[in-house]
Amino acid sequence: MRKYDVAVIGGGLSGLTSSIYLAKAGLSVVLLEKANQLGGRSVTVKKNGAMLNLGLHALYKGGAAEEALTELGIPVKGGIVLAKGGLVWNNKLYQLPGNPFAVLTSKLLSASAKLEIVQFVTRLAKIDPKALPPISFREWAEKEINDPMIRHLIYAVCRTNTFVPYPELLLAAPGVRRLQLVFKGNQVIYVDRGWGQLVESLRQEAIRAGVAILYGKHVSEIEHDGRVRQIRFHDGETVEIPYVIVTAGPAETCKIVKNAEHTALKEWRDRAKPIYAACLDVALQKLPYPDDPKRHFTFFLDQPIFVSTPSVISDASEDGSAIIHVCKDIGFGSDNPKNDEGQLERALDFIQPGWRKELVARQFLPKMTVAHDFDSIDRIGKRYGPSVPEVRGLYVAGDWTGQSEVLVDAVFASAKRASEELLREYDKVGGRANGGSGRAV
Ligand SMILES: Cc1cc2nc3c(=O)[nH]c(=O)nc-3n(C[C@H](O)[C@H](O)[C@H](O)COP(=O)(O)OP(=O)(O)OC[C@H]3O[C@@H](n4cnc5c(N)ncnc54)[C@H](O)[C@@H]3O)c2cc1C
Repeated sequence: MRKYDVAVIGGGLSGLTSSIYLAKAGLSVVLLEKANQLGGRSVTVKKNGAMLNLGLHALYKGGAAEEALTELGIPVKGGIVLAKGGLVWNNKLYQLPGNPFAVLTSKLLSASAKLEIVQFVTRLAKIDPKALPPISFREWAEKEINDPMIRHLIYAVCRTNTFVPYPELLLAAPGVRRLQLVFKGNQVIYVDRGWGQLVESLRQEAIRAGVAILYGKHVSEIEHDGRVRQIRFHDGETVEIPYVIVTAGPAETCKIVKNAEHTALKEWRDRAKPIYAACLDVALQKLPYPDDPKRHFTFFLDQPIFVSTPSVISDASEDGSAIIHVCKDIGFGSDNPKNDEGQLERALDFIQPGWRKELVARQFLPKMTVAHDFDSIDRIGKRYGPSVPEVRGLYVAGDWTGQSEVLVDAVFASAKRASEELLREYDKVGGRANGGSGRAV
């Protein structure tokens, strides 16, 4: 392998984004992915001609992801989720007809609750999340909301949009930020052809920027003596490299960095609280439920389940299949994946009776890592990355290195932060001023 200024480990959204920023800044970059395709958790798979994301994937407007994609010139095409959905409570479906205040017309809320939710949503819009005290989302919600049904609703909306089913652990600020987006309306996008399309657009941009992309390159060790020296691959090959960004999770990062136990990486790994989801994804010839096939989503208020139907608003699959994602937030894990699968199927039976007769493709993913860590009350005052203090030239990016961003917003924001910090160090040791030969010693 020829010599590069920087190696970026991992060809998911974090790795692609960092590598583009660095290559556009003039560095020679190699992107190393152990799989034979890019995308990581954002791949879209093709099954019987239909296209399925790995579980439901929604992009939020106004966040770090949209900002970075715009900056990199990556167009995002898709459909906007409207408040045209359903709420399920006690085996009964309450329809929402299509505006952010739709819940007001629902029979689910009492007259006093309807008044309370109007006041709550008005207050919510004016909150500056950065000014919130470092308390849990539950503590914040219990102070703000009296009516038990509104609390159920707010917890379900927060859980669905963060994938964290523990309001007592989630910090208030990221939860409130997500609520603000949802209640503002028109802020959530289902991307045409799934998130694989984002990956493909980033891949093309990376190639244009000059990034060398290598597949099947499984990094087994990053060697250093307080400064990054070389990378070793599983097949025994080594390559000298002065700068590395790792975009794997904290456990894998610890495994591949030599002597990681003596660096901050150990604490970051030990403190991380990975969040998982069980996902049932189906492609159907058409939506079978005749009365209201145009529902964009359904919240279950009494179970940690959410159903989204991206195909009603986006070109979800090139073969025209109807796509439904049913997701159960299983938090730190589940004892019984078989039960989870049954629960997801029953939810789909309830929302789209007759779906089995229309089935084109199906996948059940019992335990997807949605995030390697999240903004919990245990992280107050702590920063993970972008640099690893004990190892010069080593940086980390990914969902677990967010600084109050959520999910893929943390991915894009951290990828940009890692690239910028790397560039500052690179230039400090002579980097681009020396015609791009910034090999640190
Ligand atoms: C079910 C589900 C639903 C989700 N829904 C949403 C949503 O609605 N909205 C949202 O914002 N986010 C959502 N997410 C989160 C989003 O998908 C992730 O944040 C994002 O895909 C993470 O990208 P990444 O590049 O940081 O990590 P990954 O996608 O995990 O990429 C890391 C890459 O590194 C590679 N790698 C690891 N170790 C090595 C090694 N040693 N050598 C070489 N390569 C290596 C891996 O193969 C992988 O390709 C969801 C995630 C899941 C699982």
